[in-house]
Amino acid sequence: MSPHSRLDRSSQLHHDAVVVDAHADMRWKVAEDGRDLTSRLSIGHADMPRLVEAGVDVQVFAVFVEPGRGKPDDLAEADRALDLFDAFEHRAGSLLRRVRRRDDLPRPGERSPLRALLGIEGAHMVGPDLDRLHEFHERGVRLVTLTWNPVNDWADGCQPAANDRLHGGLSPLGRERVAEMNRLGMIVDLSHASPATFDDVLEMTRQPPIASHSCVAALRRHPRNLTDEQLRALARSGGVVGINFFPTFLHDGDPGDVGIEHVIAHVEHVIRVAGEDHVGLGSDFDGIPSTPRGLEDVTRLPKITEHLLRAGYEDRVVRKILGENFLRVFQNVLTN
Ligand SMILES: [Zn+2]
Repeated sequence: MSPHSRLDRSSQLHHDAVVVDAHADMRWKVAEDGRDLTSRLSIGHADMPRLVEAGVDVQVFAVFVEPGRGKPDDLAEADRALDLFDAFEHRAGSLLRRVRRRDDLPRPGERSPLRALLGIEGAHMVGPDLDRLHEFHERGVRLVTLTWNPVNDWADGCQPAANDRLHGGLSPLGRERVAEMNRLGMIVDLSHASPATFDDVLEMTRQPPIASHSCVAALRRHPRNLTDEQLRALARSGGVVGINFFPTFLHDGDPGDVGIEHVIAHVEHVIRVAGEDHVGLGSDFDGIPSTPRGLEDVTRLPKITEHLLRAGYEDRVVRKILGENFLRVFQNVLTN
């Protein structure tokens, strides 16, 4: 096959596939500065025009407010971020659809509009109040990453300091909240969780959780990365891990040496230990200060398809990695 025809086949496959990115930061601070995320910006990694150009069909937008250890501002800032997301959605009009129900997800062969699934990155923005979780659900949030790095009311995070391992995993309140998320049809996200939190959730959740933006510890030892045992446990639960593009999570040594091939290596490792049904993409675009060579912004995503084909994967496996695996979990968890 000539390189030219491989390129055509690759772009065709990328175009036809459902592409899901399980984690990018919602740039609410940028929106707060008066910049319009529905127009093409020269800063950051993603905006509406670039997501569309990249062939993304479902983007999980994570609202993140740096935890201030229970300072009330965490809650107020999260609300402000949601207001800005609403304004963004309003401006985008028919070009964007918020995923609130299973039926909002794309059907096979359906292209536009871009689907936005809204997530909260860390239950420190929810707190102990049950009404607050319900309020987020009502506002269209469909995913909660249980923790960011430090501990919160619900669970311990991946930060290894003793004072961040207060609950020894999920707290009793966290257990109740995960059960409520199951009932409401909200996706439980285990990226940033401590190992004990990870195990506790897998033991009690009735629905497959995801690790929306994590990498493989066997290739790079880091508290944010998942061990082979965790990857296998996630697979047994039906869950999916989205490989994060942050160079620091991908490779020992100089982050400047990291390229798209390292992302592919992490994908391949998950397939080897957990199977082809349990891996996807969780770029962390606009949440990471640097990117691998070849993945400078979201418009480079078709390169992933090219590299996967070059690595010898069949089209049907490439489609799973690009989005079908995450779509399966979203369809399972969301209600109508
Ligand atoms: Zn994160």
